[in-house]
Amino acid sequence: MRLNVRMNDSNLYAKILGLRKPWRVLTITVSEALKTITVFIGPEPGSRLRCPHCRQICPGYDSRARRWRHLDTCEYQTWIEADVPRVQCPEHGCVQVGIAWAGSHSRYTKKFEMMVLDWLRETTILAVSRRLGLSWSAIDGILRRAVTRGIDRRRVANDAHICVDEVAFAKGRDYVTIVSSAQRVLAVEDGRAAESLRRYFKVLGRKRCERLESVSMDMSGAYIKAALDSLPDAREKVAFDHFHVAKALSEAVDNTRKSELHRVDYGLRREIHRSRYDWLRRGTHLSDFGRERMQALSVSLLDTAMVWMLKEKAREIWHTGYHPRQSAKTWQVWIQAARQTGITALRGVANQIEARLWGILNAMRLRVSNARAEALNSQIRAMRVKARGYRNKARFMLGILFHYGKLNMAH
Ligand SMILES: [Zn+2]
Repeated sequence: MRLNVRMNDSNLYAKILGLRKPWRVLTITVSEALKTITVFIGPEPGSRLRCPHCRQICPGYDSRARRWRHLDTCEYQTWIEADVPRVQCPEHGCVQVGIAWAGSHSRYTKKFEMMVLDWLRETTILAVSRRLGLSWSAIDGILRRAVTRGIDRRRVANDAHICVDEVAFAKGRDYVTIVSSAQRVLAVEDGRAAESLRRYFKVLGRKRCERLESVSMDMSGAYIKAALDSLPDAREKVAFDHFHVAKALSEAVDNTRKSELHRVDYGLRREIHRSRYDWLRRGTHLSDFGRERMQALSVSLLDTAMVWMLKEKAREIWHTGYHPRQSAKTWQVWIQAARQTGITALRGVANQIEARLWGILNAMRLRVSNARAEALNSQIRAMRVKARGYRNKARFMLGILFHYGKLNMAH
């Protein structure tokens, strides 16, 4: 059914679409069978056409039929159609005139894309796909364009303190590297090798790398290597936050408890098993009951109690704060004490701390905390679960930037 365009209809759609001169609504077609509305628009005849790049008035060349999906009109899928003119610009050649309602390569109007993005913030890709009748690749295109817009707009790296961490894409098999500041994800790189972080530094460029004040990371080798290779003054900037030291020590406590379990009286094993989380808590976070149980068990778990005590001692060193000469000495005393226990798991951590002491001292001096980055990473893991996994890694990486990049993706 073709409606005669009355002033009211065309005005309404011109307004809804935000059309500006020379564009106007020509006809509106309603299909009851397909439940669609198609709005044909076109430039007023004889209107002057401009090159989108230099804004010069140019002679028309030809036109191309194009079609965009727009926001539904009362449950009718709404489509915009137009023959979009191309002009012959002496400087830029044959180019399509600028259109205000859609991006140059999109099959959706800007308003439609923004609505899709709003939905994606609230729910999964699958739900958006069902609700709006869009294919995954259509949604992917909208997302990709939005994230690209946001990244192009973003002023890079005024963040002086950054964190690097890995997040699994598929459980334990495939990883991405996440570079973040306290507030937002700055970049997502493929893999978790030295090369992944090196790529980030390369994109950042030497000048911006020089402006970085701290790079917080865990104590494993790959990221350290990348920083030492590509970051100027890395020895002053790489920081191993207490979170990572505490994590290594908690693992040592747990492993020591497990190995001691086999040596204790059978009757005690159940009680020891029940106490397993207490040993991982900080002393100040223990309940009275937990503390008493630990004290009772330490007679049988001498090694575990020793590792736990040294874990608490390490926390104390950290919270005492940084002193230029004293901090290194205090750590050396700790390292000696840990080695003298002869406990295998603890000796491993002591060696690691000794080898990485320079970065631990940096973290104390720079007062670097990885807490925000860790919180961000657990949100990202939750996002992966909520999406019931991502079909491919590229989409996962895009999702991270979309949700946590704090990008300005407006059209
Ligand atoms: Zn031009």
